[in-house]
Amino acid sequence: MGTTVFERRVPASSVIDHSLQGTVLRTFWLDDVERTAYPALPGDMTTDLAIVGGGYTGLWTAVRAKERNPERRVVVIEASRVAWAASGRNGGFCEASLTHGEQNGQTRWPEEMDRLTELGMENLQGIEDTVARYGMDAEFERTGALTVAVEPYQVADFAGEHGFLDQEAVRAEVHSDTYLAGIWEKDSCALLHPAKMGLELARVASELGVEIFEQTRVRRIDADAAGPVTLVTDRGRIRAHRVALGTNAFPSLLKRNRLMTVPVYDYVLMTEPLTAEQMASIGWEHRQGLSDAANQFHYYRLTADNRILFGGYDAVYFAGGRIRPGYEDRMESHRKLASHFFTTFPQLEGVRFTHRWAGVIDSCSRFCAFFGTARKGRIAYASGFTGLGVAATRFAADVMLDRLEGLETERTSLRMVKEKPLPFPPEPAASIGVNLVRRAMDKADHNDGKRGLLLRTLDAVGMGFDS
Ligand SMILES: Cc1cc2nc3c(=O)[nH]c(=O)nc-3n(C[C@H](O)[C@H](O)[C@H](O)COP(=O)(O)OP(=O)(O)OC[C@H]3O[C@@H](n4cnc5c(N)ncnc54)[C@H](O)[C@@H]3O)c2cc1C
Repeated sequence: MGTTVFERRVPASSVIDHSLQGTVLRTFWLDDVERTAYPALPGDMTTDLAIVGGGYTGLWTAVRAKERNPERRVVVIEASRVAWAASGRNGGFCEASLTHGEQNGQTRWPEEMDRLTELGMENLQGIEDTVARYGMDAEFERTGALTVAVEPYQVADFAGEHGFLDQEAVRAEVHSDTYLAGIWEKDSCALLHPAKMGLELARVASELGVEIFEQTRVRRIDADAAGPVTLVTDRGRIRAHRVALGTNAFPSLLKRNRLMTVPVYDYVLMTEPLTAEQMASIGWEHRQGLSDAANQFHYYRLTADNRILFGGYDAVYFAGGRIRPGYEDRMESHRKLASHFFTTFPQLEGVRFTHRWAGVIDSCSRFCAFFGTARKGRIAYASGFTGLGVAATRFAADVMLDRLEGLETERTSLRMVKEKPLPFPPEPAASIGVNLVRRAMDKADHNDGKRGLLLRTLDAVGMGFDS
């Protein structure tokens, strides 16, 4: 088996040890905000629309619902705090793609792909317009995204693509001698501060009249044949004419969706702010969102105060498929990220990481969100963003509202929206299967990207596994 550049150019362990001394196990973004506390549900109530989940999916649904119809009563129920989960700890790459990349969409819905690309761009523009309209402080920067090739076989895949940069041009943008080529997509990606985005969506929602309740968990949904649906929470009952579920990787309140996603942990590091000399040593003046091109890839970006966030590569599924805070403390993954960081930027030797953290991704077998309704159209759900939901959650909100309002729209008539992914098998088969696929992907990354029999078979049946 071959090696990757990250194994051929390993930094000294003293460099890694030094960089991780004093690093705290906390999400930088959530440390970097001041938050408003929202009350817990005070008791029983009745509403037009109840939304479960205070991440981007739930909050976009709340904002869009009020924008579409200011008269309706809308409540958001959040088990913990607004934007504490994936929405407060992600990389902040706000990408137009609704299909987790062009290739995934092209394989599954070739006849719709042109329109899906346009709808994705309109959605990204809708986010930028919302940020401007409400004066949202989310550090939104329309920087574009730069994907870099770090192995010769990846360069071949890039050739002829729009935005192609050869070795000299890509290294002129960002100074890493691991880069062999790049693709700079200038329009289709913005960067933002994830936690600020979530909290600002909550502010806008409440200014539009949405009632947000934190520290309130929905335990189950009771629905009779007709009439309102009852959400049974640990603080009271909510009778709602319509319900939208934005619970992401957490156990679905609908039994039918329990096997549709698996929780996969993604690990992240944040450096201290770089000095002017350190910044000069890496270039990166256009501040693009960066990622490399393998199956197991890194994503990295600058913050407003010129720190570097460096995440990805290891995507870990823990046997049993549970979500536990203890899984966030995985030094092995954080050390690997630190090592790969200094392989990429050896000139930054001496830089320290102030924060390390992890978050849960709702992986589904088609890599992008799926949508549906339950209980005779009174409940809508969207889940399965598989690590690309910063922008796509807004599109998902509109799909859910179209469905709950009984509207036939272009969105609801898309095959991408109507079709569902294949479910994962129950445990223990899920662990065995997911880990076999992970190993096969690692092997492909060490073998010039060549996909073995297992991956090709899964590709053929439209079932895959990705971060
Ligand atoms: C480390 C990491 C990096 C990522 N990087 C990127 C990136 O750069 N770009 C990108 O596009 N995507 C990225 N993603 C994915 C992106 O963050 C998610 O797709 C997006 O935040 C999903 O939003 P959500 O609202 O659906 O989920 P969440 O933010 O997870 O919110 C779900 C909420 O539902 C609540 N909830 C669940 N069950 C209940 C219940 N029964 N009662 C009440 N409340 C409940 C939870 O408490 C939670 O707050 C990343 C994810 C992670 C973890």
